[in-house]
Amino acid sequence: GDFASTRCDALAWDKQGGLLPAVVQDADTLRVLMLGYMDRAALQATLATRRVTFFSRSRQRLWTKGESSGHFLDLVAIEADCDHDTLLLQARPQGPTCHLGRASCFEHAPGDFLAELDALVARRERERPEGSYTTALFAGGLRGIAQKVGEEGVETALAAVVQDDAALCGEAADLLFHLQVLLRARGLSLQDVVTVLRERHRGVASRADG
Ligand code: AMP
Ligand code: ZN
Ligand code: ZN
Ligand code: ZN
Repeated sequence: GDFASTRCDALAWDKQGGLLPAVVQDADTLRVLMLGYMDRAALQATLATRRVTFFSRSRQRLWTKGESSGHFLDLVAIEADCDHDTLLLQARPQGPTCHLGRASCFEHAPGDFLAELDALVARRERERPEGSYTTALFAGGLRGIAQKVGEEGVETALAAVVQDDAALCGEAADLLFHLQVLLRARGLSLQDVVTVLRERHRGVASRADG
């Protein structure tokens, strides 16, 4: 959702000397990327430019993340916590967020790996690097990819029937990956499938409530 500037006034600015900690999360993988601090001006600049801007405590000035590296954080959403003294930002990073060249300042911060793989598959389709298996799949066309999904589906089912758990995990992994490629070939992604699952779940939840 969007963060109306009227709600800026509802934040607990006075609690910590005019600065609020702001946790930044990757909007697609939900991975925690970094922590910064915002004063009112930083929040206003972030909302106005849609690029995450902090107040740098070491430099004592506004700091748009990426201003020298080009690795901007494009704002997707902002939310305040329960007592309005901490911000959670969702953003799409234009490059590695950490100045050490890592995606996240927290080396082991977990993310949604399938979402990361989705992003990689989309990049392979765009860039078609030579020698890549994914490139070869896209080059082979939709029918070839669809046939591969069918085969992996059958292999997954057979591995389950013969109770070979290692093979089942391997075949299910093949199935998921080729399904991601198939969806991508139709301009879709796993996120579109998750949206359908969510809608069905909502239906189940409301039937249970009512
Ligand atoms: P940037 O904002 O990416 O252009 O980086 C400018 C400078 O800000 C870097 O040279 C670092 O000193 C600092 N910096 C960049 N990213 C981070 C980060 N994620 N956490 C802390 N400091 C950072
Ligand atoms: Zn709080
Ligand atoms: Zn860092
Ligand atoms: Zn297989």
